[in-house]
Amino acid sequence: MSPGRDYYEILGVDRSASQAEVKRAFRRLARQHHPDVNPNDPQAEARFKEIAEAYAVLSNPEKRRQYDQYGVVGVPGGFGAEVWDELGGFGDLFDAFFGARWAPRRGQAARGSDLRYDLEITLEEAAAGAEREIVAERVQRCEECEGTGSESKAEGQACRHCGGTGRAQRTTATPFGRLSTVTTCEVCRGEGSVVVDPCPSCKGVGRRVGTARLSVSVPAGVADGASLRLEGEGQAGERGAPPGDLYVFIHTKEHEVFERRGRDVYCELPIPFTVAALGGSVAVPTLWGPDELKVPAGTQSGQSFVVRGRGLPDVRTGVRGSEHVRVHVATPRKLTARQRELLEEFAREGGDGLDEAKGWFQRFREALGGEGDQ
Ligand SMILES: [Zn+2]
Ligand SMILES: [Zn+2]
Repeated sequence: MSPGRDYYEILGVDRSASQAEVKRAFRRLARQHHPDVNPNDPQAEARFKEIAEAYAVLSNPEKRRQYDQYGVVGVPGGFGAEVWDELGGFGDLFDAFFGARWAPRRGQAARGSDLRYDLEITLEEAAAGAEREIVAERVQRCEECEGTGSESKAEGQACRHCGGTGRAQRTTATPFGRLSTVTTCEVCRGEGSVVVDPCPSCKGVGRRVGTARLSVSVPAGVADGASLRLEGEGQAGERGAPPGDLYVFIHTKEHEVFERRGRDVYCELPIPFTVAALGGSVAVPTLWGPDELKVPAGTQSGQSFVVRGRGLPDVRTGVRGSEHVRVHVATPRKLTARQRELLEEFAREGGDGLDEAKGWFQRFREALGGEGDQ
């Protein structure tokens, strides 16, 4: 899926639209944009596929929820059963469209298959978005014969073995009489046509294995496990048939400091015990560079603070989540003579903060069954 395209916009419905409204919108648009209804419009097929993809996601409550939350949904391998059911309602019109273009059929060169590529990104890249180059090994169109498989780039000729049907009939005599079986023609492998002058560089197949350098736009805020579809970048189809798609699966590396939960990130931060007691500002790391966190006087270890707008952005709206900072109070391991003197004076003064915790200590002792000294 190309980032930024909005399924709700494609179907022209509200984000709050009911399932019935989504279905109605899809039916209306599908009828309107069907390529057979718009034979002179080259955009119609692309538009129609877009509508079908939007419907595939929004008609499925689980996928719709995922889309609402992250803005992307993995739909490798095409559409779910619900879309086929819906398309079935349109009868042969849709069957012809999907069948001819998306499924191998006798007499038709098969569309190339989809590919999967796993891309590892950092949490910073997930937050800010990134342009990445990937190198994919795939079956590509043979440039020498322009994918025809023929040295002279000629059309295939009807297979003589099967008369162009792609099927062979075999009749065998059995004790119960003659038995006819229909099999795929071995000469043309069921395609009904053969290449007369095979291209020397691809041996008549029209495709060769090669490597492709592709750039991938990782959208800011992309969810871990999301997949991005690069249309037409999968395996090449047979002899001029359309290529498959390439699905890039996103994996986010574990971060040393932050743990991601949706749009929010969590981290732990040690703060000086003087700041915890007196209050003040401490530097806090964020995905967007260092920031400042104001700590009130009397802050306890384990207390959490929220820094708004320092989480990851929503893929569609760009609105950022928060960073949750859990502080723990660092006790100095070494003291200078002067520091020791000051702290001893502080201790003599009393008010060490334990008064408030007295109730807890009382319950603690009771739980241990001890006598308690008060
Ligand atoms: Zn070739
Ligand atoms: Zn044949």
